[in-house]
Amino acid sequence: MESTVTASNPERASFVRVRFARSGHDDDIQAFFIGQDALGFLEDEDWWEAYFSATLWSEVERGMRDMFTRMDITTEYGVDEFKDENWNALWESSIKPIQVSESILITPSWHQPPAGYDGLKLVIDPKMSFGTGYHATTRLMLRLLERCIRKDDRILDVGTGTGVLAIAGVMLGGKHADGVDIDEWSYDNAMENALRNGTETQTRFFHGSMEHASGQYDCILSNITKLDNMDMLPGFEALLSPGGRMILSGFYSTDVDDVRTVAEQLGMRCQEEIREDEWSAILIIREDA
Ligand code: SAM
Repeated sequence: MESTVTASNPERASFVRVRFARSGHDDDIQAFFIGQDALGFLEDEDWWEAYFSATLWSEVERGMRDMFTRMDITTEYGVDEFKDENWNALWESSIKPIQVSESILITPSWHQPPAGYDGLKLVIDPKMSFGTGYHATTRLMLRLLERCIRKDDRILDVGTGTGVLAIAGVMLGGKHADGVDIDEWSYDNAMENALRNGTETQTRFFHGSMEHASGQYDCILSNITKLDNMDMLPGFEALLSPGGRMILSGFYSTDVDDVRTVAEQLGMRCQEEIREDEWSAILIIREDA
């Protein structure tokens, strides 16, 4: 393994930024980081970065190096540390608008959409939560959502992050969205983003998970890991109205069959799969009773 790591001083730093040059291992490393409480990701053509709390980094790095050995990954990365007060400035300067589809643009509040753009503008200031639109799974979720949302849908967004999917669901015609996330930062950030987009009376966010879901939903969105999705599918099915739709992502295209099998065992049908890079999102339908 060849790795380049710059000097670090965990006592003084609050956040760690890990930067990789693009390689064929990006998706594997990002999937590992998502399961390790990464605070955010940024990507460009030639590089991508992940952010972590400094207190977590040494453990994450140990796990990452084990994974590199196991998977015979050879890559280079650099680590920088930042004090608490620098975080927002650093993060904000790095985030640019991103066109998710022909009619959905995600932009931070300090940028304007390109001149003449007349599609849906989602104003998302990500702070430390995942969901900037820079990750393929967020974009895939939004592309399926814009195609399958129906007017006045009741939406549940599991692992809401910045709230981006819940907010988009309402802006695309849904009546109401509940978003849940086990990360406290996500909860605060989702509330702020709902205000930025004027959806605050139609979106509710909860710190936690499925214990906050109530009643039936017409559309369930879940961009979490493959194993979490598979474990939680029976709970999702129980909350989905007849004819309801469920969009799942957070897994590789090679894992779709495993997730689809669980959905089919619960009597549901996988109607569509879309892909970007090695990631997939699937649309699952609960047939009418
Ligand atoms: N929904 C956003 C998007 O599509 O960009 C964020 C998705 S991010 C990959 C996954 C989020 O799920 C994280 O914010 C994480 O804290 C949250 N999460 C993970 N497991 C969860 C669970 N069991 N219940 C609720 N939230 C969970």
